[in-house]
Amino acid sequence: MHDLVEEAASMIRGAKNLVAFTGAGVSEESGIPTFRDPGGLWDRFDPYEVGGGDVFSSLYRGGAIPASATGFVSEMLTVLEKAHPNPGHTALGELERMGILRSVITQNIDNLHREAGNSLVIEVHGNIYRLACLACGGRVYLSREELFPLGWKLVECLRSGDMQGIISIASRCLCGGICRIDVVAFGEPVQDMPRAVAEAKSADVFLILGTSGAVYPAAYLPEYAKRAGAKLIEINATGCYFPELVDLGIVGKTGEVLPRIVERLRERGS
Ligand code: NAD
Repeated sequence: MHDLVEEAASMIRGAKNLVAFTGAGVSEESGIPTFRDPGGLWDRFDPYEVGGGDVFSSLYRGGAIPASATGFVSEMLTVLEKAHPNPGHTALGELERMGILRSVITQNIDNLHREAGNSLVIEVHGNIYRLACLACGGRVYLSREELFPLGWKLVECLRSGDMQGIISIASRCLCGGICRIDVVAFGEPVQDMPRAVAEAKSADVFLILGTSGAVYPAAYLPEYAKRAGAKLIEINATGCYFPELVDLGIVGKTGEVLPRIVERLRERGS
């Protein structure tokens, strides 16, 4: 591991355009369960029942919301409310402050990269702190202090079937329109993909962090980077998920490996 960390640091030291691509594993050490690991959310909830786009439209048509969807929202609120950036997020924030990391492309919706200080964050699956107006398409940004009280009120209304309550919670846009959480549900198009592809193609070193590469089209991004000539470094707690593409694979937790890489870069005055 020692040598691999040194090798990663030396590849990063030479980079002119370092881009990171992250998945649920990066937030695991913040207490947010991944979706596909044993005990993960998809072991306990049916993704098509709780995560389909039609849950939103069914809600506003006055359709029945599956009880499991309320349980899922409630569980997500519980973990997200407690979650804060872990040493892996902090290391990526530090790499940006050191002038080394250009951008983060993330599949996560938890806002933790922004909280850790990364400023160019492309969120291909949306962000839980953002609402999208169904009438005008405008976006509404919520703070932590706004999101969770609203979310818990929503759970209460979902449990009691209070449709008027749900509509009043969701009427957040200045145009008077009803909003939904701006997170990509199953079957919906990803967000900002052209920008993510452009970032991936511009990288000379591309980090693949804590993702199983099972969700497309996001999982194509490492291939775009590779074809454009980037060197790829993968860090994953359970193995290598992009074996044909990566130049260096490190099996380890991002919250442990990334801070060690930053330490090496600091020692050599990068
Ligand atoms: P995934 O659950 O399919 O895979 C997570 C990967 O991270 C696994 O390969 C696992 O071995 C690895 N991992 C677990 N803990 C790790 C750690 N501490 N350090 C490094 N690696 C670790 O996740 P995915 O590939 O991102 O796909 C899941 C989809 O679900 C994403 O598209 C995302 O939108 C969504 N999701 C988001 C969050 C979040 O916002 N935090 C959480 C769960 C799922």
